[in-house]
Amino acid sequence: MAPFPGSGLAKGLAVTLRTMTRKSVTEQYPDTQPDLPPRTRGVIGLFEENCTVCMLCARECPDWCIYIDSHKETVPAATPGGRERSRNVLDRFAIDFSLCMYCGICIEVCPFDALFWSPEFEYAETDIRDLTHERDKLREWMWTVPAPPALDAAAEEPKEVTAARKTAEKLAAQRETTPPPESAPARPERPAAEQARTPEQPSGAQGDSEKPKASEQPGEPEQPRDPEQRSDRPRPDRSRSDRAPRDSETPEPGQEGQV
Ligand code: SF4
Ligand code: SF4
Repeated sequence: MAPFPGSGLAKGLAVTLRTMTRKSVTEQYPDTQPDLPPRTRGVIGLFEENCTVCMLCARECPDWCIYIDSHKETVPAATPGGRERSRNVLDRFAIDFSLCMYCGICIEVCPFDALFWSPEFEYAETDIRDLTHERDKLREWMWTVPAPPALDAAAEEPKEVTAARKTAEKLAAQRETTPPPESAPARPERPAAEQARTPEQPSGAQGDSEKPKASEQPGEPEQPRDPEQRSDRPRPDRSRSDRAPRDSETPEPGQEGQV
């Protein structure tokens, strides 16, 4: 059926009238900055502290536009007798944005969360060589990376958060069960025992640890061991520092304070 003459004109006028009444969506860039969504792929930021120079991003980049240089460094052992370790130290990290096709593979494969998308896009250059951003510039982009969106209220707690929470609870429980150092019973009993010591019982009723050693008594050289006395000792298996003093080593009542 042939179209009605002038119907095309009427349709066009109808579209014009309809759009005239709608709000304009044109953004007056650069006078007005565009309101970009948070996952915009503008530029790549590098969080250098997380990078272990594993080279995964450089190997997976389809454009081979990531350049990484590093050297190995020996870290001394943390404990005496421990093993030295070696680690990679980053010397250069650069991305050539004149080659990059913004596929995001490097960010996806990085196992240590060292690369992030930033929505910044105003880095056009008049010289193409300036589009190779070195590590300092990549780090500056890092500060423009938006914070990650909040988790859904019904989402599972992330594993990292669960592990950190459990560790904090464990440490808090340990702190509660361990008495503070000031409340630990200690020394007060020792002076009381010394006070109870009488001249008639110079050392027999006391613990071995409170007995003065013969070698510590001034003016009394240590006597050589007598085999007979050694066999008479009640605890021959004890070490020299713990053994009870022999008769010749037993202090006189008046000598107790000389230790
Ligand atoms: S976004 Fe893609 S092309 Fe660009 S550096 Fe990363 S892996 Fe290479
Ligand atoms: S994949 Fe990540 S950690 Fe490995 S070299 Fe690249 S940025 Fe560094």
